[in-house]
Amino acid sequence: MQLHLDTFITGTMTASKIPFPKVCEYCKKNFTAYRSTAKCCSNLCSKRYYKQQKLTAKVKTITQQTISIINSDIEKIKVRDFLSISQCAELLGISRFTVMRLTRTGLIASFKAGRRTIISRESINNQFNINNNESNT
Ligand SMILES: [Zn+2]
Repeated sequence: MQLHLDTFITGTMTASKIPFPKVCEYCKKNFTAYRSTAKCCSNLCSKRYYKQQKLTAKVKTITQQTISIINSDIEKIKVRDFLSISQCAELLGISRFTVMRLTRTGLIASFKAGRRTIISRESINNQFNINNNESNT
């Protein structure tokens, strides 16, 4: 039994010394790691990988900031009673062309203020009500 336990311990000890094959996170090459935490094949790759990770994080932050700015713009539009074609397009996530077509067909109420088309927010909301009523019946 004692012998069996010894082999068991030595067995695990050798197992931890066995190098394990890994793929470098930076250059994507196969390499042999002696630590389970190793991510890169060399110091150079580690440095580059670290820089790359930092850059990715930075890009992510900037993207998130941009998204929140866009969202806050949309929030501002949401509270308006009257919209321009482009504001309406942004709000509904459709093209300006589609908005113009909707105003021309009369689905969305609009009027011309000089060269600009002003769209009533209420008429957009009404469209939602009409659609909901139709789907309910
Ligand atoms: Zn590498």
